[in-house]
Amino acid sequence: MVLLRSIKSKIFVFAIMATLIPSLGLGLLSFHQNEAQISDNVTRELRALASQASRELELWINKHIHTVRALSTSNAVIDGLAPIAHPPTGKPNKAPQALTHYLSSVQSKLDTILELTVVGATGQVVASSAAVPSAIILPKSWPESALTEGIVLVPPHWEKQRATATLSVAVPVLSYDNILMGALVAVLDLRTAQPYLKNSTKSPLGEVLLLDQNGRELLSSRANATKLRSLDGVVLRQLLARPGESMIFQGGMHREVIGLADTPAALPVTVVAERDRADVYAAWVDLRNLYLALVCTIVLVVTAVAFRMGRSIVTPLQHLINAANSIADGDLDVRLPVTRNDEFGHLTQIFNQMADKLRHSHAEVVATNKAMQQQNQLLETLSITDGLTGLYNRSKLDVILKDELARFKRNQRPFAVLMMDIDYFKTLNDSYGHIAGDEVIAAVAKILSQSIRSVDYAARYGGDEFIIIMVETTADMALKMAERIRSQVNDMRYSANGQIVSVTVSIGVVQCQQSDDATPTAVFARADSALYEAKRAGRNRAHYAT
Ligand code: GH3
Ligand code: MG
Repeated sequence: MVLLRSIKSKIFVFAIMATLIPSLGLGLLSFHQNEAQISDNVTRELRALASQASRELELWINKHIHTVRALSTSNAVIDGLAPIAHPPTGKPNKAPQALTHYLSSVQSKLDTILELTVVGATGQVVASSAAVPSAIILPKSWPESALTEGIVLVPPHWEKQRATATLSVAVPVLSYDNILMGALVAVLDLRTAQPYLKNSTKSPLGEVLLLDQNGRELLSSRANATKLRSLDGVVLRQLLARPGESMIFQGGMHREVIGLADTPAALPVTVVAERDRADVYAAWVDLRNLYLALVCTIVLVVTAVAFRMGRSIVTPLQHLINAANSIADGDLDVRLPVTRNDEFGHLTQIFNQMADKLRHSHAEVVATNKAMQQQNQLLETLSITDGLTGLYNRSKLDVILKDELARFKRNQRPFAVLMMDIDYFKTLNDSYGHIAGDEVIAAVAKILSQSIRSVDYAARYGGDEFIIIMVETTADMALKMAERIRSQVNDMRYSANGQIVSVTVSIGVVQCQQSDDATPTAVFARADSALYEAKRAGRNRAHYAT
């Protein structure tokens, strides 16, 4: 069933079965009927042929019996036999010379009769046309039956010397006063019956054979039957067991024949009528072969058409499968050429449209994803940065400080926190306005972000306050950084409402200590104290809280 998995092989098998089954089925049925009909017809014809041949034989034998009977009543025969049958007393029985001459002269005139012999009532040869007369055995009951039945027919048999089958007919010879004296025996040449047999085979067609009891061929209707054959004993018995019914058996010259047997009433022979089987069925075989050739051609044509059909379905299907596979593998640029105007053309068009839509949708999804990522990034940035300065905001600062505290707990490496506040900022706001104040805040923030190392963090703590977290930094380094920032802010000049102003910052510096700085709040509180100290000490300075 593996074979039937593909559509192509299913179409293939279906087409061949749909062609073969009905054509072969109907064909075989009709040929079988035809064969039976031919067989019936041949049997009927052979039956007619056999009975016609039997009638012809009857004619032939009757004609000859008539001749012999006429001879038996001739004066020459009666007179020749009388002295032998009733010898005058005292005279020796000598061979009747006149009778012998008579028999020889008659025999030489009749080519059907091979020999004429006169026998006495007890069967002894009296005179004969032949030098060595054939032995004739008259039935024991002959003297009694001769008067009533008259004729004795000796079944025909093959005579080698004469190279023909012969048949003896014995006719009683009666004296003038109707007393049985002997018999006139004629040996007939069966060959002379051949024209009669031939007559019968003109219509219907066929051959007729005459066989003796042993199945040996005695005579054939065939024109030049040079070699006489013998019929197999079994076949002969079967033929005789079913007279009038045909059967197939081995004929002469190794050919099969269809034949049947008949036993004529007038002659103790078997008449076999036969026809060459190949001849009988020749037309039928030709027709059958033509039909088979036709079926083979149709099957070939159907196979070719089915193959093309299968291919025309499977090939575009395979293209569609390959294209769908490519899409499944992520290649959305697949496009199939629309080369046909049928369902597959339509399906290919729809497939292409689907692929187009998929491509567009995919591009849209990619673009939307990108935009969302950018927005997310922006949102993330916004959520952790201060809008005015771009530094980290308060909430991010808390997270950073928590992380640094945790890291400090793990590796004990110190970090520093700088808290700074612009000095007298309220006054600046009041003098130059809030917007100028904002610009100053942004400018100070810029100095911070430019001053710190890439690993450090700068954040706006709120208002005019900023925080710097310096990782892995000691108090000295932090103080140096604070001083640098303070100095830079101090040196800077800002333009506010058309006037040049300068600002300063105070910075509180703390180094993280394990004992005090458990939470961000604690760290901020210490930094705030340091800042306060810096303010109190006169501002524009950095103060380190030990
Ligand atoms: P000190 O030297 O003691 O710090 O004096 P100061 O005037 O700076 O006092 P303080 O730091 O307490 O005042 C901060 C002022 O900063 C208060 C508020 O009006 C102002 N401020 C807070 N946030 C902003 C802001 O976003 N923009 C502006 N322009 N001003 C702000
Ligand atoms: Mg201030």
